[in-house]
Amino acid sequence: MSEDDEKVTECPYCGAKLRHPYWAHVQEKHPEEYQKKETWISLFKDYKSMGMDDSICYTVIGELFNAPPDEVKFFVEKNS
Ligand SMILES: [Zn+2]
Repeated sequence: MSEDDEKVTECPYCGAKLRHPYWAHVQEKHPEEYQKKETWISLFKDYKSMGMDDSICYTVIGELFNAPPDEVKFFVEKNS
């Protein structure tokens, strides 16, 4: 049980258990889904240009795409 120090994430597309941030896996195994995430970047930039706070952007985008704000944040930070 001591191996659970690191958070295990389940791939939302195939259910594989992934120990590390799973974007590398998504990019490799589910390229179409990964492409969709690039929309998040565009939206984030749009909202930022409208003067929204980062945390609000993550919440709003998460609600639009039915994704946890943390996931949006992770992706945007990794790709900006
Ligand atoms: Zn997968």
